[in-house]
Amino acid sequence: MTKLLPPLAAHHSVAIIGAGIAGLACGQVLASSGASVTLFDKARGPGGRLSSKRRPGAALDLGAQAFSVRDADFQHAVDEWLAADCIAAWPTRTYQASSRGWQAHDDGQKRYTGAPRMSALTRHMADSLTAMPNAALHTGTPIVALEHSPAGWRLIDADGAHYGPYGQIVISAPPPQAHALIQPWDDALAAVCVTREQRTCWAGWAIFDGPLPLIPGVTPSWQMARLDHPMLNIVSRNQTKPGRETQPESVSLLAQLDWSEAQLEQPAEWVAEQLLTAFKRTSPTAATFPKLIETGAHRWRYAQPATPCKYDYLYSANGLALCGDSFRGGRVEDAWLSGHRLGEALIGRSVR
Ligand SMILES: Cc1cc2nc3c(=O)[nH]c(=O)nc-3n(C[C@H](O)[C@H](O)[C@H](O)COP(=O)(O)OP(=O)(O)OC[C@H]3O[C@@H](n4cnc5c(N)ncnc54)[C@H](O)[C@@H]3O)c2cc1C
Repeated sequence: MTKLLPPLAAHHSVAIIGAGIAGLACGQVLASSGASVTLFDKARGPGGRLSSKRRPGAALDLGAQAFSVRDADFQHAVDEWLAADCIAAWPTRTYQASSRGWQAHDDGQKRYTGAPRMSALTRHMADSLTAMPNAALHTGTPIVALEHSPAGWRLIDADGAHYGPYGQIVISAPPPQAHALIQPWDDALAAVCVTREQRTCWAGWAIFDGPLPLIPGVTPSWQMARLDHPMLNIVSRNQTKPGRETQPESVSLLAQLDWSEAQLEQPAEWVAEQLLTAFKRTSPTAATFPKLIETGAHRWRYAQPATPCKYDYLYSANGLALCGDSFRGGRVEDAWLSGHRLGEALIGRSVR
């Protein structure tokens, strides 16, 4: 955005709905400037699409598997996370797989993942934030409505509890979810939410009691494969990620978006079976798979923005603002930059 926001007074209180990486990045900037910041997330923990599924003996990433860095500000944050040991470089052994076979693939881009699970990154961000006396995080708190009065904004959760008043509201939930909160208060922001469609992605997983069968010409320690397949997009092996070397063989099976949308209402058990069968068929027909311990699937209803957006974030003069990956490009870096830059704009440090 190009318009100058009124700088946030140091004592200003801000509520952030959504403690994914965008909301956490925004909260970090605001709390560091002295604002009083309260984050709310409907999930049991922070992280959003960077959350991980924990099973006995295994941690599985079902959202983002790894992320890359292009922006200097984001690189600065990544350097801090590397020093804090909550992320590490991964993957280095990647493949492209199609009906013609598996080929090693290196696009020269360095990537990182959370260690020992993707959610370690957002957990670190949340812990750093809530260590400040002027920041708080309420998880398991779905916000269902906003109220406005001369005293400021109030939030109402699904149990009817009220929070506030706050001078500023930031919503980092994906726009289709933000719309219901915004719509009674701001026609312009609500209209933008309607245009920011999000695509769906099914993410399956499978845990085995032994290593996967060997694939000719492929290193046994392969870490991730991108598939040219109508159903499966990405397969990644969680036990090849830093800090998870002792966990059993476990794959995350990310479906293609077109296929996910066609199977939107299918039961998770059916989806898991389809994805696992498709994965097994990428191995030689004679291959014997280890015993399956557990399988399942998670549906990300709002996985990825359908189209790029020319703004980093959006705000209105009445104290409402929107951020998240939907306002840049659908990657971890985009989400972080959106939240970080909104935070900077709100305190008047920089405006883009
Ligand atoms: C399957 C999958 C694979 C991906 N792979 C990659 C990848 O390889 N590389 C990459 O860079 N990116 C990848 N991404 C994208 C990346 O995960 C996202 O860009 C990023 O995590 C988005 O962060 P966010 O903070 O904008 O949104 P989110 O992480 O979605 O955070 C929004 C938060 O808002 C909360 N919320 C929503 N509504 C409410 C409410 N009413 N009240 C309270 N809380 C609410 C949610 O619980 C959530 O925690 C992938 C995403 C998916 C789903």
